[in-house]
Amino acid sequence: MTAVKLSYFGTNSLVIQKGASTLLIDPYFSRPRLLALWVKLNPDPLRIMKGLSLAGVKHVDGVLLTHTHFDHALDVIEVIRQAGGCLVGSQSAMRLARSGGIEEKRCISVSLRELYSIGDFQVQFHPGCHLPFSMPLNWLFPEDGQISENLTIPAHFWAFQCGDTYAIQVEHMLVFGSAGFVPDAYRGLKIQTVVLAVGGLETKPRSYLEQFYQETVRSTGARQVLLSHWDNFFLPSERGLKQLGLSFKIIEQIQELGAVYGQTVQVLAYGETYRV
Ligand SMILES: [Zn+2]
Repeated sequence: MTAVKLSYFGTNSLVIQKGASTLLIDPYFSRPRLLALWVKLNPDPLRIMKGLSLAGVKHVDGVLLTHTHFDHALDVIEVIRQAGGCLVGSQSAMRLARSGGIEEKRCISVSLRELYSIGDFQVQFHPGCHLPFSMPLNWLFPEDGQISENLTIPAHFWAFQCGDTYAIQVEHMLVFGSAGFVPDAYRGLKIQTVVLAVGGLETKPRSYLEQFYQETVRSTGARQVLLSHWDNFFLPSERGLKQLGLSFKIIEQIQELGAVYGQTVQVLAYGETYRV
């Protein structure tokens, strides 16, 4: 069996390779600073080029989106321009693709649970849920927020509404791009590795973390847990990643849960590659 390898590039930017096939999930290399949120956001083609080059990516088969907030979706059009591939995601992702001039034949609007063959990969999108925001973020980004038909980039950060959220299964790996879940949706999937985005979990009670771990890790039978979206994504990545808020506390708590329930828990490191 051909090995599946995962490389990490901050936030939930994942590069997945198997033989000659490459998938990207939530690629985000531009990382504009916090102050840039006052103006309209633009992808940074040079940072994207450097990121793809560092990842050793020349050609992409598919770019998959867990949801369409800016720290997941801002770069996708430019990534596809530079490295090719199709965009696979929600209706909001499709609106983003159309406004960015991506040809219709390279836009795949997701049907839940359908099995997609992309390059040498088998991919499935399961129902997901974003981490519930508190004020004022839940006012700016309501749960049912969608990207509008007339989005043009550059755009304000709030134009990147969430759209539908998915847990993305690539082979035996299940990726959560935000720390939310749909109860009972992942039981019985044949999962070896789970990628958990941990950003924002520190704002939730311990009981939420335990339920999140139960639903995403224990109910899938995964043995390997990889933690993403732990970094301050308002800082460029050149000098390495810095933690966001109190994410180190959450990481410790997840490592404790892994020790209790028998999973290995690793914090994804920038530019590192993992066998999954
Ligand atoms: Zn998000």
